[in-house]
Amino acid sequence: MLTTPRGTRDFTSEEMHKRNLLLDAMKQTFLAYGYAEIQTPTFEHLELFTKKSGASIVEELYTFTDKGGRDLALRPELTAPVIRLYNEQLQVQPKPLKLFYFGNCFRYDRPQKGRYREFWQIGCELLGSDSPEAIAELIALAFHVLSDVGLKDIVLRIGQVKLLSIQVQLVKDSLKEEEKDSFDIALVLRLIDKEDFEEVEKYFYDKGCPEHVVTRFFSFLECKTSDAVAGFFHEGQQLTIVKQYQKVLGFLPDLKVDAVEVDMRIARGLDYYTGIVFEIDAPVLGAEKQLCGGGQYELIGQLGGNELASSGFAIGFDRTLLALESEQFKFTPPRLDVFIIPVTKDQLPPALRLCQELRNQKKSVDIDLLRRGIGKGLKYANSKNATFAVIIGEKEVEQNKVTLRNMSSGEQVTISSSEIINYM
Ligand code: AMP
Repeated sequence: MLTTPRGTRDFTSEEMHKRNLLLDAMKQTFLAYGYAEIQTPTFEHLELFTKKSGASIVEELYTFTDKGGRDLALRPELTAPVIRLYNEQLQVQPKPLKLFYFGNCFRYDRPQKGRYREFWQIGCELLGSDSPEAIAELIALAFHVLSDVGLKDIVLRIGQVKLLSIQVQLVKDSLKEEEKDSFDIALVLRLIDKEDFEEVEKYFYDKGCPEHVVTRFFSFLECKTSDAVAGFFHEGQQLTIVKQYQKVLGFLPDLKVDAVEVDMRIARGLDYYTGIVFEIDAPVLGAEKQLCGGGQYELIGQLGGNELASSGFAIGFDRTLLALESEQFKFTPPRLDVFIIPVTKDQLPPALRLCQELRNQKKSVDIDLLRRGIGKGLKYANSKNATFAVIIGEKEVEQNKVTLRNMSSGEQVTISSSEIINYM
Protein backbone atom coordinates (compact mmCIF):
# COMPACT_ATOMS: atom_id res chain seq x y z
CA MET A 1 0.00 0.00 0.00
CA LEU A 2 1.24 3.49 -0.76
CA THR A 3 1.84 5.77 2.21
CA THR A 4 2.69 9.46 2.69
CA PRO A 5 6.31 10.32 1.85
CA ARG A 6 8.68 10.28 4.85
CA GLY A 7 8.31 13.36 7.03
CA THR A 8 4.94 14.41 5.58
CA ARG A 9 1.49 14.02 7.12
CA ASP A 10 -2.16 13.79 6.18
CA PHE A 11 -4.53 15.79 8.34
CA THR A 12 -7.89 14.24 9.17
CA SER A 13 -10.96 16.44 9.47
CA GLU A 14 -10.55 16.41 13.28
CA GLU A 15 -6.98 17.64 12.91
CA MET A 16 -7.95 20.23 10.31
CA HIS A 17 -10.63 21.50 12.67
CA LYS A 18 -8.01 22.15 15.35
CA ARG A 19 -5.52 23.59 12.86
CA ASN A 20 -8.12 26.00 11.51
CA LEU A 21 -9.14 27.15 14.99
CA LEU A 22 -5.49 27.73 15.84
CA LEU A 23 -4.74 29.49 12.57
CA ASP A 24 -7.73 31.83 12.89
CA ALA A 25 -6.71 32.75 16.44
CA MET A 26 -3.11 33.42 15.40
CA LYS A 27 -4.12 35.52 12.40
CA GLN A 28 -6.34 37.64 14.66
CA THR A 29 -3.30 38.61 16.71
CA PHE A 30 -1.22 39.59 13.66
CA LEU A 31 -4.13 41.71 12.41
CA ALA A 32 -4.50 43.30 15.85
CA TYR A 33 -0.88 44.51 15.56
CA GLY A 34 -1.50 46.14 12.17
CA TYR A 35 0.13 43.44 10.04
CA ALA A 36 -1.25 42.57 6.59
CA GLU A 37 -1.17 39.05 5.15
CA ILE A 38 0.74 38.15 2.00
CA GLN A 39 1.34 34.91 0.13
CA THR A 40 4.28 33.83 -2.00
CA PRO A 41 4.86 30.73 -4.20
CA THR A 42 5.63 27.32 -2.74
CA PHE A 43 8.75 27.10 -4.91
CA GLU A 44 11.31 29.74 -5.75
CA HIS A 45 14.55 30.03 -7.67
CA LEU A 46 17.12 27.97 -5.79
CA GLU A 47 19.42 30.99 -5.85
CA LEU A 48 17.12 32.88 -3.47
CA PHE A 49 17.96 30.46 -0.68
CA THR A 50 21.65 29.96 -1.52
CA LYS A 51 22.06 33.75 -1.56
CA LYS A 52 20.52 33.97 1.90
CA SER A 53 22.10 30.95 3.56
CA GLY A 54 25.10 29.93 1.45
CA ALA A 55 25.63 26.96 -0.91
CA SER A 56 25.57 24.42 1.94
CA ILE A 57 21.84 25.02 2.43
CA VAL A 58 21.22 22.83 -0.65
CA GLU A 59 21.77 19.75 1.55
CA GLU A 60 18.61 20.69 3.48
CA LEU A 61 16.48 21.61 0.48
CA TYR A 62 14.12 19.87 -1.88
CA THR A 63 15.54 21.06 -5.20
CA PHE A 64 14.64 20.25 -8.77
CA THR A 65 15.20 21.39 -12.33
CA ASP A 66 11.99 22.15 -14.19
CA LYS A 67 11.28 21.33 -17.84
CA GLY A 68 12.64 24.74 -18.84
CA GLY A 69 15.96 23.97 -17.15
CA ARG A 70 15.42 26.33 -14.20
CA ASP A 71 16.94 25.40 -10.83
CA LEU A 72 14.16 25.63 -8.30
CA ALA A 73 13.63 24.75 -4.64
CA LEU A 74 10.64 24.17 -2.40
CA ARG A 75 10.83 26.98 0.15
CA PRO A 76 12.48 25.99 3.47
CA GLU A 77 11.31 29.22 5.13
CA LEU A 78 9.50 32.39 4.18
CA THR A 79 11.71 35.35 5.02
CA ALA A 80 13.72 35.18 1.79
CA PRO A 81 10.54 34.91 -0.35
CA VAL A 82 8.97 37.87 1.49
CA ILE A 83 12.09 39.98 0.95
CA ARG A 84 12.15 38.98 -2.73
CA LEU A 85 8.54 40.14 -2.99
CA TYR A 86 9.42 43.36 -1.18
CA ASN A 87 12.31 44.05 -3.56
CA GLU A 88 10.18 43.24 -6.60
CA GLN A 89 7.02 45.14 -5.73
CA LEU A 90 6.81 46.81 -2.35
CA GLN A 91 9.85 49.09 -1.97
CA VAL A 92 7.77 52.21 -2.57
CA GLN A 93 5.16 51.42 0.08
CA PRO A 94 4.91 53.62 3.19
CA LYS A 95 7.14 52.50 6.04
CA PRO A 96 7.26 50.68 8.25
CA LEU A 97 5.82 47.80 6.31
CA LYS A 98 4.24 45.08 8.43
CA LEU A 99 3.75 41.82 6.55
CA PHE A 100 2.69 38.43 7.85
CA TYR A 101 2.41 35.02 6.23
CA PHE A 102 1.31 31.46 6.79
CA GLY A 103 2.63 28.71 4.57
CA ASN A 104 4.14 25.27 4.25
CA CYS A 105 7.92 24.87 4.28
CA PHE A 106 10.06 21.94 3.19
CA ARG A 107 13.33 20.78 4.69
CA TYR A 108 15.22 17.56 4.10
CA ASP A 109 15.48 17.10 7.88
CA ARG A 110 15.60 13.88 9.84
CA PRO A 111 11.95 13.46 10.87
CA GLN A 112 11.01 13.01 14.54
CA LYS A 113 8.29 14.30 16.84
CA GLY A 114 7.94 18.01 16.13
CA ARG A 115 10.33 17.84 13.15
CA TYR A 116 8.89 17.18 9.72
CA ARG A 117 9.93 17.46 6.08
CA GLU A 118 6.80 19.42 5.33
CA PHE A 119 5.73 21.78 8.12
CA TRP A 120 3.98 25.10 8.43
CA GLN A 121 5.27 28.43 9.61
CA ILE A 122 3.36 31.56 10.54
CA GLY A 123 5.49 34.64 10.86
CA CYS A 124 6.12 38.22 9.89
CA GLU A 125 8.62 40.81 8.68
CA LEU A 126 8.82 44.38 9.94
CA LEU A 127 10.55 46.52 7.31
CA GLY A 128 11.64 50.10 7.82
CA SER A 129 12.10 50.60 11.54
CA ASP A 130 14.62 49.41 14.09
CA SER A 131 13.63 51.77 16.90
CA PRO A 132 13.54 50.10 20.32
CA GLU A 133 9.74 50.38 20.34
CA ALA A 134 9.56 48.66 16.92
CA ILE A 135 11.65 45.71 18.09
CA ALA A 136 9.80 45.56 21.42
CA GLU A 137 6.47 45.50 19.58
CA LEU A 138 7.72 42.72 17.30
CA ILE A 139 8.77 40.62 20.29
CA ALA A 140 5.46 41.34 22.05
CA LEU A 141 3.62 40.18 18.94
CA ALA A 142 5.50 36.86 18.86
CA PHE A 143 4.83 36.37 22.55
CA HIS A 144 1.14 37.23 22.31
CA VAL A 145 0.50 35.16 19.18
CA LEU A 146 1.55 32.19 21.31
CA SER A 147 0.03 33.19 24.65
CA ASP A 148 -3.30 34.38 23.17
CA VAL A 149 -4.01 30.96 21.64
CA GLY A 150 -3.98 29.55 25.15
CA LEU A 151 -0.43 28.27 25.69
CA LYS A 152 0.34 28.49 29.40
CA ASP A 153 3.99 27.64 29.65
CA ILE A 154 6.19 29.50 27.19
CA VAL A 155 9.63 30.96 27.79
CA LEU A 156 10.81 34.06 25.94
CA ARG A 157 14.58 34.59 25.76
CA ILE A 158 16.18 37.66 24.24
CA GLY A 159 19.80 37.97 23.14
CA GLN A 160 22.00 40.26 21.05
CA VAL A 161 24.26 38.67 18.44
CA LYS A 162 26.44 41.76 18.01
CA LEU A 163 27.31 41.76 21.71
CA LEU A 164 27.95 38.03 21.55
CA SER A 165 30.26 38.35 18.57
CA ILE A 166 32.21 41.17 20.26
CA GLN A 167 32.87 38.79 23.16
CA VAL A 168 33.99 35.99 20.82
CA GLN A 169 36.26 38.51 19.11
CA LEU A 170 37.79 39.34 22.52
CA VAL A 171 38.64 35.67 22.96
CA LYS A 172 40.30 35.70 19.55
CA ASP A 173 42.21 38.88 20.41
CA SER A 174 43.66 37.18 23.51
CA LEU A 175 45.34 34.47 21.39
CA LYS A 176 48.94 34.37 20.22
CA GLU A 177 49.37 35.71 16.64
CA GLU A 178 49.95 32.24 15.15
CA GLU A 179 46.64 30.93 16.58
CA LYS A 180 44.57 33.95 15.61
CA ASP A 181 44.47 33.15 11.90
CA SER A 182 42.99 29.70 12.36
CA PHE A 183 40.49 30.79 15.05
CA ASP A 184 37.06 30.14 13.55
CA ILE A 185 34.47 32.55 14.97
CA ALA A 186 31.67 30.98 12.90
CA LEU A 187 32.51 27.56 14.34
CA VAL A 188 32.32 28.94 17.89
CA LEU A 189 28.93 30.48 17.18
CA ARG A 190 27.66 27.24 15.65
CA LEU A 191 28.72 25.35 18.79
CA ILE A 192 27.00 27.94 20.99
CA ASP A 193 23.89 27.62 18.84
CA LYS A 194 23.99 23.85 19.45
CA GLU A 195 24.49 24.56 23.17
CA ASP A 196 27.66 22.49 23.05
CA PHE A 197 29.50 24.64 25.62
CA GLU A 198 31.97 21.89 26.52
CA GLU A 199 33.25 21.90 22.94
CA VAL A 200 33.49 25.71 23.00
CA GLU A 201 35.61 25.58 26.14
CA LYS A 202 37.79 22.82 24.70
CA TYR A 203 38.26 24.78 21.48
CA PHE A 204 39.33 27.91 23.40
CA TYR A 205 41.89 25.99 25.48
CA ASP A 206 43.15 24.11 22.40
CA LYS A 207 43.84 27.50 20.84
CA GLY A 208 45.80 28.51 23.95
CA CYS A 209 43.29 31.02 25.30
CA PRO A 210 44.25 32.22 28.84
CA GLU A 211 42.03 30.84 31.60
CA HIS A 212 40.80 34.24 32.81
CA VAL A 213 39.56 35.08 29.30
CA VAL A 214 37.68 31.79 29.04
CA THR A 215 36.13 32.33 32.47
CA ARG A 216 35.12 35.86 31.55
CA PHE A 217 33.55 34.65 28.31
CA PHE A 218 31.44 32.05 30.06
CA SER A 219 30.32 34.49 32.73
CA PHE A 220 29.16 36.73 29.88
CA LEU A 221 27.11 33.86 28.45
CA GLU A 222 25.57 33.33 31.88
CA CYS A 223 24.38 36.94 32.32
CA LYS A 224 20.82 36.94 33.66
CA THR A 225 20.15 40.69 33.60
CA SER A 226 20.85 43.44 31.11
CA ASP A 227 22.83 45.30 33.79
CA ALA A 228 25.10 42.29 34.08
CA VAL A 229 25.49 42.36 30.27
CA ALA A 230 26.31 46.08 30.43
CA GLY A 231 29.15 45.31 32.85
CA PHE A 232 31.04 43.58 30.02
CA PHE A 233 31.17 46.63 27.73
CA HIS A 234 32.96 49.94 28.08
CA GLU A 235 33.50 51.46 24.62
CA GLY A 236 31.03 54.12 23.45
CA GLN A 237 29.67 52.30 20.41
CA GLN A 238 29.33 49.03 22.26
CA LEU A 239 27.50 50.79 25.09
CA THR A 240 25.06 52.23 22.56
CA ILE A 241 24.19 48.68 21.49
CA VAL A 242 23.72 47.66 25.13
CA LYS A 243 21.48 50.71 25.72
CA GLN A 244 19.32 49.81 22.69
CA TYR A 245 19.00 46.28 24.09
CA GLN A 246 17.98 47.69 27.47
CA LYS A 247 15.45 50.06 25.92
CA VAL A 248 13.78 47.18 24.09
CA LEU A 249 13.57 45.18 27.32
CA GLY A 250 12.28 48.30 29.07
CA PHE A 251 9.28 48.66 26.72
CA LEU A 252 8.16 45.05 27.07
CA PRO A 253 6.21 45.46 30.34
CA ASP A 254 4.25 48.32 28.69
CA LEU A 255 3.35 45.83 25.96
CA LYS A 256 2.18 43.32 28.57
CA VAL A 257 5.17 41.03 28.24
CA ASP A 258 6.37 40.47 31.76
CA ALA A 259 8.33 37.23 31.81
CA VAL A 260 11.52 37.72 29.82
CA GLU A 261 14.91 36.05 30.13
CA VAL A 262 18.14 37.74 29.14
CA ASP A 263 20.03 35.12 27.13
CA MET A 264 23.36 35.94 25.53
CA ARG A 265 23.73 32.35 24.31
CA ILE A 266 21.36 32.83 21.38
CA ALA A 267 23.64 32.54 18.35
CA ARG A 268 21.23 32.30 15.46
CA GLY A 269 23.09 32.40 12.09
CA LEU A 270 25.39 35.38 12.46
CA ASP A 271 25.89 35.87 8.74
CA TYR A 272 22.30 37.03 8.68
CA TYR A 273 21.15 38.31 12.09
CA THR A 274 22.63 41.65 13.03
CA GLY A 275 21.25 42.70 16.40
CA ILE A 276 18.59 41.62 18.83
CA VAL A 277 17.55 37.98 18.52
CA PHE A 278 14.89 36.09 20.42
CA GLU A 279 13.47 32.63 20.84
CA ILE A 280 10.34 31.28 22.45
CA ASP A 281 10.23 27.73 23.78
CA ALA A 282 7.52 25.43 25.07
CA PRO A 283 9.40 23.32 27.65
CA VAL A 284 6.57 20.76 27.58
CA LEU A 285 7.83 19.63 24.13
CA GLY A 286 11.22 18.39 25.35
CA ALA A 287 13.90 18.12 22.65
CA GLU A 288 12.12 20.00 19.83
CA LYS A 289 10.82 22.72 22.12
CA GLN A 290 11.55 25.82 20.08
CA LEU A 291 8.32 27.38 18.86
CA CYS A 292 9.63 30.66 17.54
CA GLY A 293 12.84 32.31 16.44
CA GLY A 294 13.51 35.78 15.12
CA GLY A 295 15.35 39.04 15.35
CA GLN A 296 16.95 41.92 13.46
CA TYR A 297 18.57 40.95 10.19
CA GLU A 298 20.01 42.23 6.93
CA LEU A 299 18.89 40.63 3.69
CA ILE A 300 17.25 43.21 1.43
CA GLY A 301 20.57 44.50 0.03
CA GLN A 302 21.92 41.01 -0.49
CA LEU A 303 18.87 40.20 -2.61
CA GLY A 304 19.28 43.34 -4.71
CA GLY A 305 17.14 45.97 -2.94
CA ASN A 306 18.06 49.12 -1.01
CA GLU A 307 19.03 47.99 2.48
CA LEU A 308 16.46 48.85 5.12
CA ALA A 309 16.09 48.08 8.81
CA SER A 310 14.54 44.62 8.90
CA SER A 311 13.35 42.27 11.58
CA GLY A 312 10.93 39.40 11.84
CA PHE A 313 10.18 36.02 13.31
CA ALA A 314 8.80 32.62 12.35
CA ILE A 315 6.63 30.43 14.52
CA GLY A 316 6.43 26.67 13.99
CA PHE A 317 2.69 26.13 13.53
CA ASP A 318 2.77 22.34 13.97
CA ARG A 319 4.81 22.58 17.15
CA THR A 320 2.46 25.19 18.58
CA LEU A 321 -0.38 22.72 18.10
CA LEU A 322 1.69 19.93 19.67
CA ALA A 323 2.42 22.16 22.66
CA LEU A 324 -1.28 23.00 23.11
CA GLU A 325 -2.14 19.32 22.95
CA SER A 326 0.57 18.50 25.48
CA GLU A 327 -0.92 21.12 27.80
CA GLN A 328 -4.30 19.37 27.40
CA PHE A 329 -5.82 22.44 25.76
CA LYS A 330 -9.55 21.94 25.15
CA PHE A 331 -10.43 22.84 21.56
CA THR A 332 -14.11 23.50 20.93
CA PRO A 333 -15.18 20.36 19.07
CA PRO A 334 -16.58 20.49 15.54
CA ARG A 335 -20.34 20.90 15.59
CA LEU A 336 -23.37 21.21 13.38
CA ASP A 337 -26.20 23.68 14.05
CA VAL A 338 -28.97 21.56 12.61
CA PHE A 339 -29.46 18.06 11.28
CA ILE A 340 -32.66 17.65 9.25
CA ILE A 341 -34.49 14.34 9.13
CA PRO A 342 -37.28 13.85 6.60
CA VAL A 343 -39.26 10.91 8.01
CA THR A 344 -40.01 9.48 4.55
CA LYS A 345 -38.92 10.42 1.05
CA ASP A 346 -42.22 12.30 0.63
CA GLN A 347 -40.94 15.02 2.98
CA LEU A 348 -37.73 15.52 1.00
CA PRO A 349 -38.85 18.66 -0.92
CA PRO A 350 -39.83 20.72 2.19
CA ALA A 351 -36.80 19.33 4.04
CA LEU A 352 -34.43 20.39 1.26
CA ARG A 353 -36.07 23.83 1.11
CA LEU A 354 -35.62 24.30 4.86
CA CYS A 355 -32.02 23.18 4.55
CA GLN A 356 -31.28 25.95 2.06
CA GLU A 357 -33.16 28.59 4.07
CA LEU A 358 -31.05 27.85 7.13
CA ARG A 359 -27.83 27.67 5.11
CA ASN A 360 -28.65 31.09 3.69
CA GLN A 361 -28.65 32.33 7.29
CA LYS A 362 -25.13 30.86 7.60
CA LYS A 363 -26.17 28.05 9.88
CA SER A 364 -24.28 24.80 9.43
CA VAL A 365 -26.89 22.34 8.26
CA ASP A 366 -26.82 18.74 7.19
CA ILE A 367 -29.68 16.56 5.98
CA ASP A 368 -30.12 12.81 6.13
CA LEU A 369 -28.88 11.65 2.74
CA LEU A 370 -29.41 7.97 3.48
CA ARG A 371 -33.19 8.01 4.06
CA ARG A 372 -32.63 6.20 7.34
CA GLY A 373 -35.60 7.47 9.37
CA ILE A 374 -35.85 9.05 12.81
CA GLY A 375 -34.02 6.65 15.14
CA LYS A 376 -30.87 6.18 13.10
CA GLY A 377 -31.04 9.78 11.89
CA LEU A 378 -30.89 11.06 15.48
CA LYS A 379 -27.98 8.77 16.24
CA TYR A 380 -26.09 10.18 13.27
CA ALA A 381 -27.01 13.76 14.33
CA ASN A 382 -25.48 12.97 17.71
CA SER A 383 -22.27 11.67 16.14
CA LYS A 384 -22.01 14.95 14.20
CA ASN A 385 -22.43 16.92 17.44
CA ALA A 386 -25.59 18.63 16.15
CA THR A 387 -27.16 21.20 18.47
CA PHE A 388 -30.64 20.64 17.02
CA ALA A 389 -32.37 18.04 14.92
CA VAL A 390 -35.36 18.99 12.78
CA ILE A 391 -37.80 16.19 12.13
CA ILE A 392 -40.22 16.60 9.26
CA GLY A 393 -42.98 13.99 8.97
CA GLU A 394 -46.30 13.80 7.18
CA LYS A 395 -48.20 15.43 10.06
CA GLU A 396 -45.74 18.29 10.31
CA VAL A 397 -46.02 19.01 6.57
CA GLU A 398 -49.80 19.05 6.77
CA GLN A 399 -49.68 21.64 9.59
CA ASN A 400 -46.85 23.53 7.90
CA LYS A 401 -44.69 22.88 11.00
CA VAL A 402 -41.54 21.01 11.97
CA THR A 403 -40.40 19.24 15.12
CA LEU A 404 -37.30 20.81 16.59
CA ARG A 405 -35.33 18.64 19.00
CA ASN A 406 -32.68 19.98 21.34
CA MET A 407 -30.07 17.27 21.03
CA SER A 408 -28.53 17.71 24.47
CA SER A 409 -31.76 17.91 26.54
CA GLY A 410 -33.96 15.77 24.27
CA GLU A 411 -36.69 18.45 24.53
CA GLN A 412 -38.94 18.71 21.47
CA VAL A 413 -41.23 21.48 20.25
CA THR A 414 -43.42 21.67 17.18
CA ILE A 415 -43.10 25.08 15.59
CA SER A 416 -43.43 26.68 12.17
CA SER A 417 -40.22 26.58 10.17
CA SER A 418 -39.97 30.39 10.15
CA GLU A 419 -39.62 30.30 13.94
CA ILE A 420 -36.57 28.02 13.94
CA ILE A 421 -33.95 30.74 13.78
CA ASN A 422 -35.54 32.64 16.69
CA TYR A 423 -35.85 29.48 18.66
CA MET A 424 -32.21 28.59 18.15
P1 AMP B 1 13.65 28.57 11.72
O1 AMP B 1 13.18 29.09 10.39
O2 AMP B 1 14.62 27.43 11.59
O3 AMP B 1 14.10 29.66 12.66
O4 AMP B 1 12.37 27.91 12.40
C1 AMP B 1 11.34 28.65 12.98
C2 AMP B 1 10.43 27.69 13.70
O5 AMP B 1 9.88 26.76 12.77
C3 AMP B 1 11.15 26.81 14.72
O6 AMP B 1 11.25 27.45 15.94
C4 AMP B 1 10.25 25.60 14.78
O7 AMP B 1 9.17 25.84 15.66
C5 AMP B 1 9.72 25.48 13.37
N1 AMP B 1 10.45 24.46 12.60
C6 AMP B 1 11.67 24.56 12.02
N2 AMP B 1 11.99 23.42 11.38
C7 AMP B 1 10.95 22.58 11.54
C8 AMP B 1 10.66 21.24 11.12
N3 AMP B 1 11.51 20.54 10.37
N4 AMP B 1 9.48 20.69 11.49
C9 AMP B 1 8.59 21.38 12.25
N5 AMP B 1 8.80 22.64 12.67
C10 AMP B 1 9.96 23.24 12.33
